[in-house]
Amino acid sequence: MLLACIADDFTGATDLANNLVRAGLRTLQTIGVPVDVSAALAIAQYDAIVVALKTRTIPVQDAIDQSLAALTWLQRCGATQIYFKYCSTFDSTPAGNIGPVTEALMDALDCDFTIACPAFPENGRSVFRGYLFVGDQLLSESGMRDHPLTPMCDANLVRVLQAQTKRKVGLIPYDCVAQGAVAIHERIAALKAEGVSIAIVDAVSDSDLLALGPALRQMPLITAGSGVAIGLAKNYLENISPVLQVQQQRLPRHGGLRAILAGSCSIATNAQVSYWQASGGAAYEIDVLALATDALNVDGVMRWALTELMQAPILIYATTDAQRLAQIQDQLGASHAGALVEQTMAKLAQLLVAAGVTQLVVAGGETAGAVVQALGIQALQIGPQIDPGVPWTAVVGGPGLLLALKSGNFGTKDFFTKCFTQLDYYERNTIT
Ligand code: ADP
Repeated sequence: MLLACIADDFTGATDLANNLVRAGLRTLQTIGVPVDVSAALAIAQYDAIVVALKTRTIPVQDAIDQSLAALTWLQRCGATQIYFKYCSTFDSTPAGNIGPVTEALMDALDCDFTIACPAFPENGRSVFRGYLFVGDQLLSESGMRDHPLTPMCDANLVRVLQAQTKRKVGLIPYDCVAQGAVAIHERIAALKAEGVSIAIVDAVSDSDLLALGPALRQMPLITAGSGVAIGLAKNYLENISPVLQVQQQRLPRHGGLRAILAGSCSIATNAQVSYWQASGGAAYEIDVLALATDALNVDGVMRWALTELMQAPILIYATTDAQRLAQIQDQLGASHAGALVEQTMAKLAQLLVAAGVTQLVVAGGETAGAVVQALGIQALQIGPQIDPGVPWTAVVGGPGLLLALKSGNFGTKDFFTKCFTQLDYYERNTIT
């Protein structure tokens, strides 16, 4: 059995792969659809494959085409169940892409019903009566309302998803989920009879996700955040010998220089940047308006980086608060500003790795996508978890590089420091 996952961004893919590994599945994350045949041959060693795409905010048809290409490749690898992974804050534009990609995958799989559940209680994302909460706040009252690319201004996921799809969207409410697989199956049958083919699923705790897992056993397509993997993985473990089950995949050691690139403007990343600076960490703020006028370029940033790197880990950030972001976007346009920052971070990553950085932290989903693509990385192996949703990873078959790809809103305020202290601890205590 092979659980085959298609993720709409790179940090999300790592988040899902991390949950699958922690649940015991041998998991490989590929960056896009592998072109290398040896990667396909290696698939037999794994219980789950996560194909990381960067399709969250691209034009709808491109997102569909890339997702279907990933599906075709995964089917050739022997996929028994498909998992379309999106963000736990349901990040999408008014056009999609969650709805249109779900529809296209359902059509391709001839699937008449699926679920949509971004809940990830361990990270404070819960769904109740179809409303998504981030911690104690409704999605629409959280920092996500100011997201640079996918502002989320409605917490009612039935309404949000219905606006993106021609298929009818319904709800499997909390009281039903809590009763377990039989009640969930009955609810699905009732929804199907009403013409519903996609159901938002309530879940407020890991025990809800564990109750949901068995009900998904025969579902050809699941769409969700990373949390649903916690319950789903149990269905697979029944077929895997205990000696093959993993809790953590071992990483190679890579002593070398350390850097952090932050391109997320989330509240969590803003707090992490401030904490790093307050703790005396070397930091360089990218002035996006100066970038746009060529008053600043990557060579200027690298001149600073090359001297600082030799002393201690460095942080380079475009992270800014909602007010400053709005000013920049007014002047440059949101998508132009976003693309400019992503291209700059991608180029900086190339230069930093060329300069000897072997341990790189990237904050921001789109930012991480741009960086990983620029580095030409094909696959990642999942290592120890730093914070829920964020593990260290090692590049497979590429440059000797450890990467931590952090979704903007994840991680405690001392996340950046923690990344490196944890790696020091791991390297001291792991026998390779
Ligand atoms: P998150 O994980 O928080 O969603 P992303 O990297 O996915 O973070 O998205 C953040 C987007 O905001 C990226 O496209 C990034 O280039 C853009 N961005 C970051 N900093 C700035 C800034 N100072 N001005 C304008 N856009 C920015």
